[in-house]
Amino acid sequence: MLTTIIYRSHILDNVPPQELEAMVAKANEINSRADVTGILLFNGKHFFQLLEGPEQKVRAIYEHICEDLRHYNVVELLRDYAPARRFGRTGMELFDLREHDREEVLQTVLDKGTTKYQLLYNDRALQFFRTFLEEREKENYFEIPPADSWSFVPDADTPSEPPLQPDEAAACHFAFQPIIDPLAQEIISCEALIRSPEGQSPEHYFAGLSGDEIYHADLQSKKVALAMAAKLGLREQSLSVNLLPMTLVKVPDAVDFLLQAIADNGFVPEQVVIEFTESEVISRLDEFTGAARQLKASGIGIAIDHFGAGFAGLLLLAQFQPDRIKINRELISDVHKSGPRQAIIQAIIQCCTTLEILISAVGVEKPEEWMWLEAAGISQFQGYLFAPPGFGAIPPVAWPEKREEL
Ligand code: C2E
Ligand code: MN
Ligand code: MN
Repeated sequence: MLTTIIYRSHILDNVPPQELEAMVAKANEINSRADVTGILLFNGKHFFQLLEGPEQKVRAIYEHICEDLRHYNVVELLRDYAPARRFGRTGMELFDLREHDREEVLQTVLDKGTTKYQLLYNDRALQFFRTFLEEREKENYFEIPPADSWSFVPDADTPSEPPLQPDEAAACHFAFQPIIDPLAQEIISCEALIRSPEGQSPEHYFAGLSGDEIYHADLQSKKVALAMAAKLGLREQSLSVNLLPMTLVKVPDAVDFLLQAIADNGFVPEQVVIEFTESEVISRLDEFTGAARQLKASGIGIAIDHFGAGFAGLLLLAQFQPDRIKINRELISDVHKSGPRQAIIQAIIQCCTTLEILISAVGVEKPEEWMWLEAAGISQFQGYLFAPPGFGAIPPVAWPEKREEL
């Protein structure tokens, strides 16, 4: 299949100009043999390249390019499929924008269009060329440092108490995972994640229940979560718990039950945040909105979990604004390499900033993901990079520390 990839990247500071020519000559050879077209723009700092040709070859070349140590922060902007080539001539061509007029470059690129696939002004690939040439997206190029510029040092201050054992009478147990502000070295909240007494996942726990049992068990479990949180010494902190949105609809007096459990364990409602998963909220938005008002009126905070994973996240905000949203791993994984993910997250950030809704990113595993998200304006995180969930325990946090420059 015919594939087009466009990426941009940053050149490493110490690459001499002669090396650029050698690189292009070599790429020309490789591309020609693979039947791939490469058009490379360079503005003295950033590369912008289009690769077009047979899918396997384009992918192989792109993977190779990603490994090249002469540039960094490689971000894939477009990956598209087409019935015919946009560009006829295979090989590799470089336009050094410091030597060419920008309008001329765009015209030259246009002229390269094959007659079979008339390059049109509304062609996405061509629009990316135009945007790069006009330097319109530059404020969104975050120059994140290499992954190893930070080390993640487990907090030695956290006393390692033995974990709480599952209560004989309780059907469930909880794991706790902190939500942190890494640069402020602050714990924002601790999330209680349900487990079976044997430590199995929430899916596994809920799979053992049928019909409306799920809602009752989910609500009852919050009593266990609050009791464990109190034992773990979280009384001065914020506690986040997950709840199926339909629990509020199906179980009468659910809010009163929660308020009672909160009070019994020495917490106040303002300390508690309830997380609802976006897709479950959307399916019965009107009923949910009513129940959510009751929660808010009682002082309990609301977060929308897995934001952006469904289809209607932004639409949801038109009807109901939570205190915070959580962007899930589905969206943030490898965000530093993906133009589309970056664009979506930036749109979410802009929207939530306007609405004064707090944002946290969940499922952060790589330093680069965290660095990109920080650069984009997110400051609250949860993920294995900082701390995995602790079964019956609060895990120590690995705070990022800037490595000394060599
Ligand atoms: P969630 O609310 O998004 O919770 C975060 C999940 O992501 C947890 O999975 C956690 O272990 C996992 N996670 C955290 N950091 C990372 C990371 O860096 N990488 C990856 N790959 N995963 C990470 P867990 O505990 O299996 O929970 C899954 C989901 O089950 C939760 O997602 C939540 O939606 C639901 N859940 C958990 N506890 C309850 C509960 O008491 N009631 C209800 N209704 N749902 C619950
Ligand atoms: Mn959650
Ligand atoms: Mn999740």
